[in-house]
Amino acid sequence: MKTIEQIAAELQGYDPQALSAAAVNEFLARLVAPVTDTEELGIFEALDRVLAQDVISPVSVPPHDNSAMDGYAFDGSQLRAGETLTLTPVGTALAGKAWQGTVSAGQCVRIMTGAIMPAGLDTVVPQEFVKAEGDAITLPAGLLQPGDNRRFMGEDVMQGRPALQKGERLTPAALGLMASLGIKTARVARRLKVAYFSTGDEILSLGEAPREGAVYDSNRYTVFGLLTRLGCEVIDFGVVRDEPALLEAAFRRAADEADAIITSGGVSVGEADFTKTMMKQLGDVAFWRIAMRPGRPMAVGRIGKSVLFGLPGNPVAVMVTFLAFVRPTLLQMMGCSGKAPPLLRARSAEAIRKKPGRTEYQRGTVIYGADGSLQVRTTGNQGSGVLSSMVQANGLIVLHHDQGNVAAGDEVDVMMFDGVI
Ligand code: AMP
Ligand code: MG
Repeated sequence: MKTIEQIAAELQGYDPQALSAAAVNEFLARLVAPVTDTEELGIFEALDRVLAQDVISPVSVPPHDNSAMDGYAFDGSQLRAGETLTLTPVGTALAGKAWQGTVSAGQCVRIMTGAIMPAGLDTVVPQEFVKAEGDAITLPAGLLQPGDNRRFMGEDVMQGRPALQKGERLTPAALGLMASLGIKTARVARRLKVAYFSTGDEILSLGEAPREGAVYDSNRYTVFGLLTRLGCEVIDFGVVRDEPALLEAAFRRAADEADAIITSGGVSVGEADFTKTMMKQLGDVAFWRIAMRPGRPMAVGRIGKSVLFGLPGNPVAVMVTFLAFVRPTLLQMMGCSGKAPPLLRARSAEAIRKKPGRTEYQRGTVIYGADGSLQVRTTGNQGSGVLSSMVQANGLIVLHHDQGNVAAGDEVDVMMFDGVI
């Protein structure tokens, strides 16, 4: 494990007082390592977990060449360009059992979708294209090529090859694929344990009576939701009052129990709270100012074996820094090898002011414009404490570090929330 100082020395032009969003992710990628403990789970339980080893297929799927259509199977070498072909059916091949019989030139076999292709036959004509005349059927000219409408053995997955790879997250499609191979369990990385607490003396827990100058803790709930969606085991430490003994106890317990600790509040420059002092005292921690909006202050490092993410307090800043930095880092710790999904390109429905030299994340709603193209509009007040505009949004408009003002109609990048928030 490298120290903060060692990582800082590896990065060109590292300046904790003016870090770009890209530099933050570079730093974090060097700070963490994937968990090594694994467990074997039934595939229902393995949804969203990360594979700890390749899944080698014990079988080929499909196990035989088979028909993709209901129709007639025949030997495609009899097709002649520009000519019809007349064939006589000599039997029926049903799905689920092999048709036993021989077929000569001029003959065919009626076949159902999924039925094994009879020996020597490689082409299927769909039943709706043939004309029946007495006992025979006639295929129209120019419709088919040899090999049409046949699925190959192993075209989905070949026996002995990796059907899924270590580091893949088990999506619904991946569960189905494993089942299609007859595999009942998956060897996956253990769940990541993430401890969370809110700091700040002005933060009220739900159920506490309102008092002047105090606000209810919302960060605990957004972070809970974000971590749960990610498949982490969330350890909730509640709101920790700004007293050194309480903060110390919370940090120590969290470091004992969790792979990662997330806090919110108390990390900005002018902060009078004990949070920063305690982080410094107990861990190896860097305090950053990030060239971004919303967000900016963030503390990062290690306390014991746990990775620490000290997020700013503002509710939208918490969500944005989570999505931009914490989530990709936790995925790396989960052993996930997948890249972040591509950003969507949409036309901005309005002009947006933007200063080059920082990354801005604006809450936006992507909709279809009148011409059917994707458009995005910012949602309401972009203040870093305004959660309601986060609720309305279906994505974050990402205005990159070097980007300047956006004119109405310009294309912008959008990080969609689907399945994440
Ligand atoms: P800080 O980063 O501690 O200066 O906090 C910035 C702002 O976020 C302040 O207005 C805090 O009251 C608010 N804030 C901090 N923590 C929370 C929380 N857990 N829930 C809601 N608002 C918070
Ligand atoms: Mg504070």
